[in-house]
Amino acid sequence: MLGATGSIGTQALDIIARYPDRYRAVVLSAGSRVDELIEAARKHRPRLAIIAREDLLPKLRAALEPLGIATAAGPRALAECVEADDVDTVLTATVGYSGLEPTLHAIAAGKDIALANKETLVVAGDLITRLLRHSETKIYPVDSEHSAIAQCLIGEDPARVERLLITASGGPFRTWETWRIADATAADALRHPNWSMGAKITIDSATMLNKAFEIIEAHHLFGVAPERIEAVVHPQSIVHSMVEFVDGAVKAQLGVPDMHLPIAYALGEHTRLDGVSRRLHLADYATLTFEKPDTQKFPCLGFAHICLDRRGTAACAVNAANEIAVAHFLRGELSFPGIYETIARTLDDTTFIDSPIYDDYVAVNDEARRRAEEFCKTIRK
Ligand code: NDP
Ligand code: MG
Repeated sequence: MLGATGSIGTQALDIIARYPDRYRAVVLSAGSRVDELIEAARKHRPRLAIIAREDLLPKLRAALEPLGIATAAGPRALAECVEADDVDTVLTATVGYSGLEPTLHAIAAGKDIALANKETLVVAGDLITRLLRHSETKIYPVDSEHSAIAQCLIGEDPARVERLLITASGGPFRTWETWRIADATAADALRHPNWSMGAKITIDSATMLNKAFEIIEAHHLFGVAPERIEAVVHPQSIVHSMVEFVDGAVKAQLGVPDMHLPIAYALGEHTRLDGVSRRLHLADYATLTFEKPDTQKFPCLGFAHICLDRRGTAACAVNAANEIAVAHFLRGELSFPGIYETIARTLDDTTFIDSPIYDDYVAVNDEARRRAEEFCKTIRK
């Protein structure tokens, strides 16, 4: 489990604890919250615990080695841990670009992947799709929209799919005027109406870049052409996504907004466990509404089709710029519209590679981060 201390990671550990006859966490990892990692390891007793920040290894080791739990640190340990014989499935629940390298190792080793870390598919979806053709790895999406689409596609002929309709809550600023959004603070943006998630994806939901990323993710997961994938705003977050077929039928998956269900469905390789999620009582919801997304107000949504038109390293640059811009915004150093400006400017200025190999993604990610940092400093609010 990569990212055991995060929002997805802790919910996945809940499921593992509730179904001990089915699951055991053999490796747990985190970025820097070492105390939370120690607590999770004490409870779940993995074979190995890994912390990305190497200076925190002595603390981790002192706490866990007396319990017979091995410890390690750094990006290489994180990437290589997925290859061990006792690992069947890798849950990628880290945030951002850090998910890419371990995912590539998991594919090389033929491990199944429960994929929460959508940035991996955004950054290098073409490379991953190519590698999957020569690997035994199967990818089970954790993202609720993609889990919904996977559930709607069961028993269907993929060639008879007309469109994927990805629902979006619209985030906390859906009803705000543009002038008011311009002054939004991190606290405003972190107040998501329906979902409780990590800080980075919550900001991505507020800009709606998250939905752009999900369109890219859906394209790579389901092989549906970009022009057949649309976002539709559905503020209640009950319909998790829909698939339209050539005869006009539309299938949807519904449920309360609770990530336990898609996490369990992915870990279970698309089988259903009893009582995973709270029940949906439709009569409790007066109305379910749908509307077109406002791309003027949320220009980040446009990056989906820009990236899927340009391909190559375009989405890699967008993702890198966004990670830097969101970090500046969360520290109160960048305005909310500055996130879009940073991404647009970085995408224009960063080297573009048409048919990238892995090293090209690494180089473009580094360059785009550098450029985005410089740009954020020049437009500080
Ligand atoms: P969180 O910020 O809550 O958790 C991120 C996890 O990754 C933490 O365990 C964190 O460790 C770890 N981490 C951070 N940086 C690194 C690094 N450089 N190397 C290794 N580990 C690292 O994020 P979420 O759980 O919200 O999101 C995880 C992924 O799932 C994201 O890609 C997100 O887009 C996706 N997702 C999340 C949903 C949700 O409901 N939360 C829904 C759909 C998708 P530490 O605690 O030490 O910082
Ligand atoms: Mg989602």
